[in-house]
Amino acid sequence: MKHKGRFGTFGGFYVPEVLIPALEEIEVAFDRWKDDPQFIAELDGLYRFYAGRPTPLYRAKRFSELVGFNVYLKREDLLHGGAHKVNNTLGQGLLARYMGKTKLIAETGAGQHGLATSMIGALFGMETKIFMGKTDIARQNVNVHKMKLCGAEVIPVEGGTGTLKDAINDALRYWTAHVDDTFYLFGTAGGPHPYPTIVKHFQSPIGVEARKQCLEQIGKLPDIVTACVGGGSNAIGIFCGFEADPQVRLVGVEGGGKGLDTHEHCATLVTGSVGVLHGAQTYLLQDENGQIRETECISAGLDYPGVGPEHAYLKETGRAEYVSADDESVLDAFAALIRTEGIIPALESSHALAWLMSMKGKLPHETNIVANLSGRGDKDVGIVESYRPLE
Ligand SMILES: *Cc1c(COP(=O)(O)O)cnc(C)c1O
Repeated sequence: MKHKGRFGTFGGFYVPEVLIPALEEIEVAFDRWKDDPQFIAELDGLYRFYAGRPTPLYRAKRFSELVGFNVYLKREDLLHGGAHKVNNTLGQGLLARYMGKTKLIAETGAGQHGLATSMIGALFGMETKIFMGKTDIARQNVNVHKMKLCGAEVIPVEGGTGTLKDAINDALRYWTAHVDDTFYLFGTAGGPHPYPTIVKHFQSPIGVEARKQCLEQIGKLPDIVTACVGGGSNAIGIFCGFEADPQVRLVGVEGGGKGLDTHEHCATLVTGSVGVLHGAQTYLLQDENGQIRETECISAGLDYPGVGPEHAYLKETGRAEYVSADDESVLDAFAALIRTEGIIPALESSHALAWLMSMKGKLPHETNIVANLSGRGDKDVGIVESYRPLE
């Protein structure tokens, strides 16, 4: 059991005894249905007609001129819900239905995953409960309202600091008492086995499409693929399309917050150390006593003190590199993409764009880079305004 779902020494299955049968049931169902022609056809139809796949690979000409090399954006921001999250909630939601589950639960931090789960709860007519820290509820009003409009119940989590890690703890605790009819729809490529594998699978269309689009549109593979990393689901989704192409550099960009020399950042892989959180061995932001540190960076979606175990493994093996972008550079990149392309990127995705801008003058002009534009930034306009008011 302990050896399942391992990426090198990372990953695993560190959960209370009572959850093991529930996780095994999901693992068995996933293995049974993921290659089933009917399941594939149904999910493919939902990806196309409900979510809006395939998403375009867009050559950002004016942004490319700004940075001095060729930038292609994988437009996950154009999906229903405005981000890549719907890929995963459709996949796991459909799996829950095939398993005969009638209820969904999920954790959420900023509310993006809670909303993507609530949409699918409405779509499939499943009772949906979203666990959300009370601090997050207070600061993410609009998403709370949208979840309720979808018919979901938002359950305030009082414990700890009232943020994402507390919401995950409470969702897991609730699940232990309701495993019979309830599916826990986990939001990122982390947590106990089999979630990192399942989430990667349902996010893999990003990378599969992007690779094919590069061959069609550029006539070759890109030199570099980059994405922001919170828990790591959009990054693993695009990286997996290029994993087996050793000539393609993979670069993950974490939230550098106010700077790595402060405590206010979310750069788990860049500055963290190995430990166990939410069922998996991975890199964490923790103090010398193993206490989880509060994270803080400009985009709420990157605000997680852990990271998916496969990224820990890709870092350790050197297959992918991980860097960070600080808040000021992220705001610069957010503004630059809008000014050059008329596209409002999510602040999360703007971390990948900030790394591109930091590479100006350091890469040959003919370099081709694919950046995953994980989401649109309409939700972030108010936050940006509070940092940098327009005249
Ligand atoms: C949630 C979110 C992220 C971070 O989550 P990952 O699992 O690391 O992908 C990134 N971008 C957007 C737009 C998000 O909503």
